[in-house]
Amino acid sequence: MHQLIIIGSGPAGFTAAIYAARAGLEPQLVASSVQVGGELMNTTDVENFPGFPEGIQGPDLMTKMQEQAERFGTTVIYDDVTELELSGPVKRATLSDGTVLEAQALIYATGSAYRKLDVPGEEKLTGHGVSWCATCDGFFFRERAIAVVGGGDSAMEEATFLTRFADKVYVIHRRDSLRASKIMQDRAFANDKIEFIWNAEVTEILGDAEVSGVRLLDTVDGSERDLSVEGVFIAIGNDPRTHLVHGQLDLTDEGTIWVDGRSSRTSIEGVFAAGDVIDPHYRQAVTAAGSGTAAALDAEHFLAAAADAPALATAAD
Ligand code: NAP
Repeated sequence: MHQLIIIGSGPAGFTAAIYAARAGLEPQLVASSVQVGGELMNTTDVENFPGFPEGIQGPDLMTKMQEQAERFGTTVIYDDVTELELSGPVKRATLSDGTVLEAQALIYATGSAYRKLDVPGEEKLTGHGVSWCATCDGFFFRERAIAVVGGGDSAMEEATFLTRFADKVYVIHRRDSLRASKIMQDRAFANDKIEFIWNAEVTEILGDAEVSGVRLLDTVDGSERDLSVEGVFIAIGNDPRTHLVHGQLDLTDEGTIWVDGRSSRTSIEGVFAAGDVIDPHYRQAVTAAGSGTAAALDAEHFLAAAADAPALATAAD
């Protein structure tokens, strides 16, 4: 049996692995069969991760994190977890090849998935004008016209932030009223660079090599028109990846995994959670890495206490 299984290969999972491996826990990190490295693998320049003043490509950053975790004794497993058994003292993770990993403790760091529009052009132009992250990519749209899709707080935040760079920001919302909080709405309404397009659905993102526009469907009269923009930021919500723990771990009203205060302790002893899967607010690579650190330290303390427990019981006899 292993001491620690980590599920997830984003900044939270790999940072937890670096700390746990340096503590001698020889973690088994289940990374994914498809893409190791999480959401940052879909990003180009990362300019806000401390320590890289010239910026670093997202995939390079994740490769470095993996190398650092492996250097100290992390085993990276290129497979997916299909089932988890968390309730007893032995935590079991079944992989898609049928292997069952067993450990005394488990860190769940599966991240969150940006919702997609699922329209033609979206996939092809991702990284070529289509983005889910204004703080990552806004800088590339200086003096351009861009569109933000969505009507919640994220869309208002992204649109307002993007006016630092873009000349014009269209907010495209499928209804005629916003879901965003009043303060975020007021800030966006007061911004001269932002123009709202109401009752409109994006039915296609246009462009060959780069985004050149969006096709819009008016949900009231059914008419279609093309809007010329050079960037499309999609901000229609985000879903924490919790499907493997439904019915086992407690969740919050926001759908993230419940943890005890500022710790990473979940509702089951010996199971810890870190990164976007516990975070409805910040969702940054740096905050995920910090959260992974907390999970590794919590797991280390848990395992040390478990190792001491029989000795204490014997001493008390
Ligand atoms: P959200 O509140 O769920 O809003 C998603 C928005 O996208 C809604 O306006 C929704 O339209 C729209 N939408 C959903 N699916 C769509 C689709 N397929 N096509 C077009 N539009 C679609 O998500 P969020 O804005 O990411 O916010 C998530 C949570 O984080 C919220 O609790 C929010 O308050 C919080 N947050 C807070 C801050 C802050 O306080 N600074 C910043 C960001 C986020 P409908 O309105 O028609 O459903």
